[in-house]
Amino acid sequence: MMRLPARETATGLDVAFYGIPFDIGTSNRPGARFGPREVRAESCLLRPYHMATRAAPFDSLTVADIGDVPINTFNAPACVPIIRDFVADVLSAGAIPMGIGGDHTVTHPILQAVAAHHGPVGVIHVDAHADVNPTMFGEPINHGSWLRRAIEEHLVDPERVVQIGLRGTGYAAEDFDWVTSLGGRVVTAEQCWHRSLEPLMQEVRASLGDAPVYLTFDIDGIDPAFAPGTGTPEIAGLTSIQGVEIIRGCRGLQLVGCDLVEVAPPYDPSGNTALLGANLLFEQLCVLPGVEYRR
Ligand code: MN
Ligand code: MN
Repeated sequence: MMRLPARETATGLDVAFYGIPFDIGTSNRPGARFGPREVRAESCLLRPYHMATRAAPFDSLTVADIGDVPINTFNAPACVPIIRDFVADVLSAGAIPMGIGGDHTVTHPILQAVAAHHGPVGVIHVDAHADVNPTMFGEPINHGSWLRRAIEEHLVDPERVVQIGLRGTGYAAEDFDWVTSLGGRVVTAEQCWHRSLEPLMQEVRASLGDAPVYLTFDIDGIDPAFAPGTGTPEIAGLTSIQGVEIIRGCRGLQLVGCDLVEVAPPYDPSGNTALLGANLLFEQLCVLPGVEYRR
């Protein structure tokens, strides 16, 4: 990832990139299992300094790629403890986990590890979808139920959840209301159209305060014009500029982990979705606590 050194473990690292080549929680088009390798491939273009903010992440932090989670590709529930324990090892080494998905199912076990380490966290969730279905086809472990599981298991403080970019068609008219009913905030795509998201992120920073926050970015939050390579595309989404504004607006928050999920390379012939994913992970890296800025 990013032409960084490969390491076997997170020992001695401040930040550990890791892949989760998992897509058996996908409800529509499969293929996100190939996300980590393509995001890594496109990330070879990234240079070390952020020219807009002058962030110098590699001068500030020891960062490496620790490879992929050894998932069981035949059994989604069996992957929950595998992913949880992998991320727990990263956290106990003192490193910030930066996940490369994989479908969104993976964020539930990641949050199990994060909450075991930090207690219940706030979540900034960029997505076209709310991902709060009680089950899908009767199954509790899937990419559309991870946030429901995480809140039910008290891994997440629902009053410190902000969902951004939700849109499209639902299974029920109330699909986007659950997080709001628990005291969290939902910002639909329509509320973002034609706007800079800098003012929104000022509000988000104020409301989330100094306590730990996890940032999960589903690439389908971005419009399929920019990010066609994903399993559940929805029209009229965020622009890539707005995606960048959201992440840059997280600077100053106590980020304890991030992920970028749902890049599905079979639907990404140009590679631009994976390239966007790689850049969004670089943006995430640049707003982690401890990053220095050259001014
Ligand atoms: Mn999602
Ligand atoms: Mn989604």
